[in-house]
Amino acid sequence: MTEMGLSTTGNGSGKSEHVKVLIIGSGPAGLGAALYASRAQLEPVVLTGQELGGQVSITHMVENYPGFPEGVEGPELTQLFQKQAERFGAKVVFDTATQFDFSERPYKVSTYSGEYLADTVIITTGASPRKLNIPGEMEFTGKGVSYCGTCDGFFFKGKDIVVVGGGDSAMEEGIFLTRFANKVTVVHRRDELRASAILEGRAKKNEKIEFIWDTQIESISSNGDGTVDLIKLKNVKDKSEKDFSTDGVFIFIGHIPNTSIFKDQLDTDDAGYLIVNAHMETNIPGVFAAGEVADPHFRQVITSAGMGAAAGIQATRFLEEMEEA
Ligand code: NAP
Repeated sequence: MTEMGLSTTGNGSGKSEHVKVLIIGSGPAGLGAALYASRAQLEPVVLTGQELGGQVSITHMVENYPGFPEGVEGPELTQLFQKQAERFGAKVVFDTATQFDFSERPYKVSTYSGEYLADTVIITTGASPRKLNIPGEMEFTGKGVSYCGTCDGFFFKGKDIVVVGGGDSAMEEGIFLTRFANKVTVVHRRDELRASAILEGRAKKNEKIEFIWDTQIESISSNGDGTVDLIKLKNVKDKSEKDFSTDGVFIFIGHIPNTSIFKDQLDTDDAGYLIVNAHMETNIPGVFAAGEVADPHFRQVITSAGMGAAAGIQATRFLEEMEEA
């Protein structure tokens, strides 16, 4: 069962709870870790963060997770992950970690509603959409600028929209958005896509999708009604600029790992990803990381769930070794 706040208080009164395994984040990595830790009878607590399920829960359709030959909707897959972990005793709590103290065990993790003392911590905080950082982007987020086709596509029925990016996400979301939009124009900064051949083929065959190559968006603006109407495009090769009318801008240009909260205590690479070894161990004994927060390379539901499982197994072994010592 999903709970609000700390289980010992149930009311966010700030009491500490001692747990053997605390999992920060509830995407495939977090719930994969929870499955393995719960099957080891460690009664893991999963802090969901802002939303249960992470990025997959806002993905329309997952077609490359094994066991689902027809594909599975992201929110359904999340529910199944949760149900399976809970069946073995995992506790999913709607709360967000705000502060960590890894200086001594049990590790201290503060949340919005209290504090946990954790013998082991598994970090699965994932990554957030990268921003273009151009004028108008922030101002019109939710008013024509979006980072989630599944969430916002419905509001663009019969409209003309722009998708930014040339990767799998841009193609997948662009194709999905043709369900609603009249026309989807993909604006990409190079003259070839990074996306897989299968998604590239589907996108290029789709009659509602057009491409503008070698081009970046310089700014996003409105003609005064408070929603997006116009973008300024710049060709990166000949430097020419032009205005382009659009009702919406969907941005899919990769992700940034959610690690700023740990960066003083845990080792990260230059891009901010947590550094783990093959056993999902960070530089602090008993603190593990899994999924996109530690994976700049694969970033798939299956690889994240697998990393989560590995972290769950390794946390179990770590606790066994501590007991034996
Ligand atoms: P990605 O592969 O990193 O692609 C990001 C795209 O955004 C690239 O085309 C990049 O251009 C462009 N870009 C980056 N910064 C930009 C900027 N400041 N301005 C304009 N364009 C910018 O990210 P992703 O598409 O989110 O995919 C992430 C991972 O998830 C990948 O491994 C992908 O295979 C996987 N994924 C898989 C599926 C699937 O299998 N169904 C679906 C979604 C994602 P350049 O190409 O010029 O660098």
